[in-house]
This record gives sequence, structure tokens and C-alpha cells, in this order.
Amino acid sequence: MKNNQQNVLIIGAGLCGSLLALRMGQRGYNVNVYEMRPDLRKTDISAGRSINLAFSDRGNKGIKLVGLEKKVQELCIPMNGRMLHDKDGNTFLSNYSGRTHEYINSISRGGLNALLLDEAEKHPNVKIHFNKKCKSVDFENTTALFKDYLTKDEFIEDADCIIATDGAGSALRKSYYLGKKFLFSFSQNYLTHGYKELAILPDKNGGYKTYKNALHIWPRGEFMVIALPNLDGSFTVTLFLSYDEGEYNFNNLTTPERVTEFFKKEFPDALELMPNLVDDFFENPTAPLGTVKCTPWHYKGNTLLMGDSAHAIVPFYGQGMNASFEDVVEFDAILENHDGDWEKVFTEFSKTRKKDTDAIADLAIDNFHEMKDHVANPLFQKKRKIEMALENHFPNTYFSKYSLVTFNEEIGYREAMLQGRAQDKAILNMLVDRDINTPYDESNIDELHQILEKIQNETKAVLEDDKIAGLH
Ligand code: FAD
Repeated sequence: MKNNQQNVLIIGAGLCGSLLALRMGQRGYNVNVYEMRPDLRKTDISAGRSINLAFSDRGNKGIKLVGLEKKVQELCIPMNGRMLHDKDGNTFLSNYSGRTHEYINSISRGGLNALLLDEAEKHPNVKIHFNKKCKSVDFENTTALFKDYLTKDEFIEDADCIIATDGAGSALRKSYYLGKKFLFSFSQNYLTHGYKELAILPDKNGGYKTYKNALHIWPRGEFMVIALPNLDGSFTVTLFLSYDEGEYNFNNLTTPERVTEFFKKEFPDALELMPNLVDDFFENPTAPLGTVKCTPWHYKGNTLLMGDSAHAIVPFYGQGMNASFEDVVEFDAILENHDGDWEKVFTEFSKTRKKDTDAIADLAIDNFHEMKDHVANPLFQKKRKIEMALENHFPNTYFSKYSLVTFNEEIGYREAMLQGRAQDKAILNMLVDRDINTPYDESNIDELHQILEKIQNETKAVLEDDKIAGLH
């Protein structure tokens, strides 16, 4: 059947669903998107969800695919590195890459989502229906049951195929699980830590109260605070803290005095920037963080999970949205080859993509420990300095794990993980019995070259060992 006669039903008009709707609209399909919440362009519904996000190269591939690079750039604030804050208020900027053109961006979730909705709706073949919650999906008959939040009516929609981009609590995923019609494997693992959003408001002239072009981190071992800039001069601040462990946790921070005491002791320089702390703390919800893995993502050529519904991850690599946008790119490439054969497209997409989304899920957990703890460790800082020098002097040869994951979009997350972890091992082994001189310049470049060779050889050896041990 031709594209323009095929009906595609998308559940969820979040970041992934709205990008997918736009792309499918560009390809000429009849697209109907059903979103349970009101239209975010008309109502303020951002409270309680991450207000801004780190947006990087893999996500930008999706944006390039639909031709929106320029418009998205206008929403972006470049962040060149991590600005670390110690307990005494000292700061230290650690760049994300030794290549100056590599940085990540802070972007407004609402602004980006609204742009994608606007652009999708420009296509007459794309219709977005708000306030319609999917209650279940009959994946054998390719129909979905919805409830209209305004009229309270229930209705059933059918389509040639249904793609669920309805996030971590996906209705389609639940239908797979409850349907018991095929072997469906599913795991959901919560972190012991939850998160709460706070804010650093602009100064009285509308300017930024602290350095604008960085992702700020206050690492404290068992917990941390981070802050990302917004275009209006504010920062969205997120506290990651255990629910019930340690001297301070979400369950025992129950009074304004205790919250203030906690910040005074652990984050005094942040507290100075946040006279609104106590109000934010008690007004904003505390939310859990978890990883969802499942398989299969599709049922024949009828239904498919995509984005967080297939692979929700913890936010510490700043890759959840980026991975979901990359899903759309990979899906589109497969569609190009097998257009009209949904079963082939869904099967191939799930097969090629899952290994990469499993990898970023695991990397994101690693980065939780790296951000709250390791970044403050002198050995880690030495490692980052070496990596910066290598990337700076050998920009076409050396890529740190962070760069492989974040900036090297030609390779998948899994390859980035295997190579990056092996490199990390090689560098850390080297640093144990060697003192490293930095900075590097023309006078000691030979030494840096030797270091590069050593790391490359050891990385190869680690990768070989891991292969023999069956680790990949
Ligand atoms: P969602 O954005 O969750 O969208 C799902 C949509 O479906 C929503 O609009 C929802 O209302 C709708 N929906 C849900 N159920 C139904 C239903 N039954 N019927 C109809 N509609 C439904 N990612 C990054 O790349 N960088 C970051 O810096 C980053 N930071 C994060 C910080 C935090 C605290 C969190 C929690 C996540 C962060 N992420 C980040 C991850 C990112 O938010 C997600 O990966 C991304 O939103 C996934 O997009 P999605 O469209 O699949 O799901």
C-alpha cells in the first residue's frame, strides 16, 4: 500500500512522539497522535518534570533529519563543561572535550516539544489530539482504547500500525505484559535516590547569578546537586538524594530548618544563590528514577514501543531524549529500505537498536556514581586532564568515553561503551604507577605521544580479554 494511504497511530506527543509524528508526516503517512495531557502550548504543565535537558549530537541527528537545526539552535545554551563546586565554594571547570567544537547544550523541554508540535501540525496529514489517554492496546487487532478527559467518553481507534511513544509508564507495554499472548520480558529497577527540582532565579537585572555556559555540579559522594541554565537567566537546579539512607535524606528533610541546615552544611554557595530554596523544596514534588528494559518491542507488524516506553533510563548521561531522537533516525533509515513492510521494519529496528539502548542504560547508571562522587576524586581529575590533553593534541585519534558516547554519533552506544570502558581501565592502570605531567605542549609532546600509544595498546588488550571472558 502507498504511504499516503497508510494510517499510523502514535500514542504520546512528548519529545519522541512529536519528532516521530513530524517525520512520518514528512514521509506522507496519515498520522494521528493521541496525547493524554492538555496542549502544552496553551497550558503550563511543566511542573514536576525536568524543565530543561542536556541536548547533544545524537539528539541533533534527529533534529537535522526533520530540518529544524537552526530553529532548535535558538533554544540552546552551550555548556562547555562541568563546573564543579566544592564545600568551600571553590569552583573548577572541567571541559567535556579537548576539542573546542564539542559541547552539549541546555534546552527547554517545553520549548523544544512545542516547536516539534508546531512543525508536525504544519502537515495537513498530521493530527494531534490532546486530553486523550490511551487505556490499553489490542495489539492483535491493531486498535487502541482511549478515554477523553474532557467528555469522559471512551472510544476505540484503529490504524495500520500503532507506535507507542508514551514514556516510562507506557500503556502498550502494559498491554503486552498483561496480554500474556507471547513471551514478554520486562524489568524496572529504581535507584535508591529520587530527585527534586529547585531553581536559581535571575539576578535583579535579569542576568545569570553564576557562570552561564556550564553544567554545574555540587558532588558530595552520596548525593549531589546539579544546575542547568535557562534562556531567561535562571538555572533549573536538581537535588539527587536518597529517599531513606544517610544523615540527610528525602524522608527526613521535613522542616524548613532542616532543609536550610542541609544546604548550609553541604552546598553553602548554592544556598546563597537560592533565597527561594525552602518554598521550592516544599512546593515541588520528589520523583523516583528508574531504568526500564524490555523485549520484544514489537508485536508482528502491528505495534511498536519507541523512546522511553521501550527503554527509560536514569538521567545521568543526559541521553534519554537524545537516545529517543536517535531511535527516530534509526527507524527512519530502516523504513527507507523496507517501506510498506511494517513487520520487517519493526523487527529490524528492535534487533539493531536494543543493544545500544541497553548500553546507554548501563552507562547512565555508571555516570550516576561518576557525577556524585568520582568527579571530586583526584585520580579521576588526573584522568580527565590526560584525556583533555590527548583530545586536544590528537583530535582525530583519541576520544574519551564521554566523547564516544556524547559526540561520536557514527558509532552506537554499545561500541562507545565497550571502547570507553576499556580505555578507562587502561588509563587508570597507567595512572596507578606513573606520575603524569600536565599541561602538555610542544616541549613534552613526545611523552604525550607515548602515553597515547600505551593507552591504545592496553585498550586493545582489555578488549581482547573481555571478548575471551565472554563480556561482549
Ligand atoms: P516522554 O517525554 O515521557 O513523553 C511521553 C508522552 O506520552 C507525554 O507527553 C505523556 O503525557 C504521554 N503519555 C503518557 N502516557 C500516555 C497515555 N496512556 N496515553 C496518551 N499519552 C500518554 N534526557 C536527555 O537527553 N538529556 C537530559 O538532560 C535529560 N534529563 C532528564 C532529567 C530528568 C529528571 C528526567 C526524569 C529525565 C531526563 N531525560 C533527559 C530523559 C528524557 O526526559 C526522556 O528520555 C524523554 O523525555 C523521552 O521522551 P519520550 O517522548 O519517549 O517520553
